[in-house]
Amino acid sequence: MAKPNSYVVLENYIGGQFRSCRSHIDAYDPSTGEVYCRVPDSGAEEVEAAVAAAKEAFPAWSERSPEQRAQVLNKLADLIQANLEDLAQAESKDQGKTITFARTVDIPRAAYNFRFFASSVLHQLSECSQMDHLGCLNYTIRCPVGVAGLISPWNFPLYLLTWKIAPAIAAGNTVVAKPSEMTSVTAWMLCKLMQQAGVPPGVVNIVFGTGSKAGSALVSHPEVPLISFTGSTATARLITELSAPYCKKLSLELGGKNPALVFADADLDQAIATTVRSSFSNQGEICLCTSRIYVEKSIYSEFLERFVAAAKKWRTGDPSDESNNNGALISKEHLEKVRSFVALAKSEGGIVHCGEGVDKLDLPERNAGGYFMPATVITGVSDSSRVMQEEIFGPVTCVSPFDTEDEAVSKANGVRYGLSATVWSRDVARVHRVARRIQAGLVWTNCWMVRDLNLPFGGMKSSGVGREGGRDSFHFFTEVKSISIKH
Ligand code: NAD
Repeated sequence: MAKPNSYVVLENYIGGQFRSCRSHIDAYDPSTGEVYCRVPDSGAEEVEAAVAAAKEAFPAWSERSPEQRAQVLNKLADLIQANLEDLAQAESKDQGKTITFARTVDIPRAAYNFRFFASSVLHQLSECSQMDHLGCLNYTIRCPVGVAGLISPWNFPLYLLTWKIAPAIAAGNTVVAKPSEMTSVTAWMLCKLMQQAGVPPGVVNIVFGTGSKAGSALVSHPEVPLISFTGSTATARLITELSAPYCKKLSLELGGKNPALVFADADLDQAIATTVRSSFSNQGEICLCTSRIYVEKSIYSEFLERFVAAAKKWRTGDPSDESNNNGALISKEHLEKVRSFVALAKSEGGIVHCGEGVDKLDLPERNAGGYFMPATVITGVSDSSRVMQEEIFGPVTCVSPFDTEDEAVSKANGVRYGLSATVWSRDVARVHRVARRIQAGLVWTNCWMVRDLNLPFGGMKSSGVGREGGRDSFHFFTEVKSISIKH
């Protein structure tokens, strides 16, 4: 493996200061396959120091008014916006996503997360009830919980990390966050911006490292009473076990195997253009990506032909090239895992219409060692196949026909996941009916990825526990207390 002469060496951020770590792990540029960055390999000692700093900062931060906290969050949002280009370049290099995606989705949303929760926290109301016959007035108050443990994945590094930090600190908690060891750079850059924004020392601490060392130390720390986790269902199981002895509050945002249901009366132009985007955006590395497309039999052939033609136009290559739709997958191991699903489909009699093994990528010399894979469309795989049951998390989608609405709903629900779904139809009654029957936390009809941050976000079944979003995040990051006063 070729290594550049000088690495970026990251440091932990604890108590408002950058602190070096004794050992480090390599992080790769997915578009070249080269190591370009060294990430602290933190463990229990670093987590202990971060929790101590967060505990010390808690009383003063939680006593500030929501308006005072919101001012700091807004300042941080301004600074992220002012540094958008640097952050986007770093995110693209670290994660493999296209520079265009990082510029237009990841970094603007990271800034907006702070702005949104700065405002949202000012508009939360408590409840009140009268019991005049007993001379009682009852009301609720909400208090920050304490030190929040935040663990985020690699697919939207800064976007998902800030989606947790912003509501946690807006509500008056202090935090210890652990980003994915594969994508730590923008979190480290955020630490410098937090210093400039006047986030008081200890309010946000970031500890870098692996899940098995730093992550599990955070989850099993007795003085961290709540954990907000986004990542895989397998890791969520471990986190649930590790935190169980302490009865921690848990929010788990997990994987998906999201269906698209395309009915014969759908606007096919829109359905195809959006389903290509929903299947392949960000290399298919979005928990909300479509990976099973069920199409009503009468339009199946037309849909498939046009969908494959559109998928072939989805350009994959150097992430820094603005004309590309997709960049590189996160790692060599992940690329191999995604490819193994295509091989499995073939071995079971599936047909690969485009992409992996069919279309050759024309990559620049410098990207020869990168982890690229073209948009891949498969048919002829049975619903019980692992290809149709497991989350692939890459640019691969399967298309399959259905006869009736009941059959479509039953296929959509026939997996252990329940994160999101899309429904394509012009029949309003059907849209309501199907949306209600689908087991998913989010159902988009005739669109995809429309997000109002006020609304609950999260999954059913193995896709998660709890919801995030304006009021839901506020509720998660606070403890509610019911108070009764007799006069
Ligand atoms: P992952 O579960 O491997 O890792 C997520 C985070 O957990 C990382 O920071 C990792 O270091 C940490 N971790 C790993 N083991 C741990 C342990 N034992 N204790 C504590 N922390 C541990 O997930 P990933 O591969 O980084 O991300 C991809 C997954 O995330 C996919 O399944 C995807 O669907 C899911 N995801 C879900 C959402 C959502 O909102 N529902 C959003 C994005 C990604």
